[in-house]
This record gives sequence, structure tokens and C-alpha cells, in this order.
Amino acid sequence: MQPKLIIHGGAGSSLKSKAAIHAVRHSLYKVIDDVYSMLRAGADAADAVIRGCQLLEDDPRFNSGTGSVLQSDGQIRMSASLMDGKAQRFSGVINVSRVKNPIDLVKILQDSPDRVLSDYGAAELVRELNIPVYNPLTEKRLHEWLEERQGNFERTMADVVAEPEPEFVKPSEPGRGTIGVVALDHKGCLVAGTSTGGKGFERVGRVSDSAMPAGNYANRYAAVSCTGIGEDIIDECLAARIVVRVTDGLALKDAVERSFAEARENGRDFGAIALDRTGAIAWGKTSKSLLAAYHTGHQIGDTLESMEEAQGIELEQEERAA
Ligand code: ASP
Repeated sequence: MQPKLIIHGGAGSSLKSKAAIHAVRHSLYKVIDDVYSMLRAGADAADAVIRGCQLLEDDPRFNSGTGSVLQSDGQIRMSASLMDGKAQRFSGVINVSRVKNPIDLVKILQDSPDRVLSDYGAAELVRELNIPVYNPLTEKRLHEWLEERQGNFERTMADVVAEPEPEFVKPSEPGRGTIGVVALDHKGCLVAGTSTGGKGFERVGRVSDSAMPAGNYANRYAAVSCTGIGEDIIDECLAARIVVRVTDGLALKDAVERSFAEARENGRDFGAIALDRTGAIAWGKTSKSLLAAYHTGHQIGDTLESMEEAQGIELEQEERAA
């Protein structure tokens, strides 16, 4: 079986410059290259997904691990999960702090009798495992929070990605981020992983969809990772909804299309990436942007083109107006 891979770096408002789009593409392609080489060399989907999540968590551009957004009290609390489609087993951590890679905890929990741990329990696990204390805070995210505090947290969410400095422009509308990796390995096993710093500026104790089957789900038939407003994802039970539709016989593309048509009707704001056991690749969004890239086995592609095209039109319009 030819392995397949799709990853995302969040959904939300559009990126503001060509340089930002190129920078995001560069980051995503680096991860695709690394993780697809593993899959091609025979790695299991679970190992590939964990590696992909670690790399994305380590990239400060994305809202997970290093570069996570701050909650309303100025603290970083991260959530992550892994769903192994072959074992049909979910594990996750909710609102964990002071670790570099939340996905590493999730990996360990796959073989534990207690598979989803929240803040206090997750912190105890970190201590038990002697995982070094790590501060995932970046200057940009701190700056973003300080600005929001001045505005009394008017915006309800943080930016989708930390854009490079010279092009950093405060967006006119809220965005968000999160990372996700979905893989199909040479044995035909599907795995989905998702990791997030949350929406940004949320109430203490708020629980993200990223560590729920609504936001990250897989079985033998399909695997899905979601991003966007967690409350919307939970209300649609998006990942599980798409996977169940495929399990019941719908083609992946149709399952994604139908679920997003319903979401649009319900005024939702999110995106999702998906694979099925035949190797079909799909994604969908109701948000303005979904930052995703994939490897078909023959070539790399991404979802950033539409943003580039839209920007080309905007630039043309600006030039004509000038
Ligand atoms: N879904 C994440 C959350 O609500 C945020 C995101 O994907 O941007 O916690």
C-alpha cells in the first residue's frame, strides 16, 4: 500500500502577505518531507504522526508546543490527542503546561489504562517521567497577549499563526491555530494526531476539542484532524461525524462535503483534514483559510494556493484603484 500523509497548521483568517504564505508553506513542506520519508521507509502511521506533531509543535509559527497562545490569565495550557485507527484507541492530555511536546505524553498514554489526563494528572505524569520543565512562551505570543490585555480581551481568539515580523499586521478579525497530522502507512493503518495551545485568551479551565474525538478521530476506514473554533467542532462532532459516514459507506470526499455543507448551514467556523483506507485525501473548511499540505506518494500539494490567488486579486484591485 502506498503511504499517504496530510498535515495542517490551523484554520482561521487569511494570512496577510505573500511572505507569510511562503513561510508557512516552507514550514509545512519541511515536515511533509521528513515524515513522508519515514512512511516511505516503512514506519508505522503512529510513529509518523507523532514525529509530525513534534516537528510542528517545535515550530514557533504554529499554535501548539513552542509558540502556543496564552489564555486569559497569561498562562499557556496545551491539549493534544492521538487516535490509532487500527487499535481504535484514543489518548489525550487536556490543559497541560510547562512541557515541550504534549504529543509525547499522549504517546505514552496510548498504553495506559487511564488514557485521557487533564491538567493536574498530566502534570503528575510529567513529574513521574522526569520530563524536563520547558517554557513554550515566545516573544510574539506574549506581545499579542499584552496587546489584548490593553484592549480588555476584546478579540475572542489569537492569530492563526505567528506571522514573520516585517509583515506582521494586526488582523481585522480573529484567527486561530492548532496543528494536526493524519497518516496512512504501508500496512493500511490510519492514525490522526492533533495538538493545540487552544483558542487564545480563553477562560481558565476551558477544554479544547483537540483532545476529544470530536476534534481528532480515526478507525480502520478513515482518520480526521480538525482545527478552528473548538466549540463549533464539538457541536458538529466533526471528526467522528466524517469517520462514521465513511464507515457507513460514503466516499471520503462525499462525507467531507456533506459534513461541511451542514456546518455552513449552522454557521460554523473551522477546517479539517482527512484520509481514508483507500488512500483518498480530503479537506474542508468553513473558515477563510486552512493551512494544510499533503503528500500523495507522487507529489506534494497544499491548500495555500486559493489564498495566494485571492491575494493576487486584492493586489490587482489595489493597483487599479491607485
Ligand atoms: N480547535 C482549537 C480550540 O478550540 C483551536 C484551533 O484549532 O485553532 O482549542
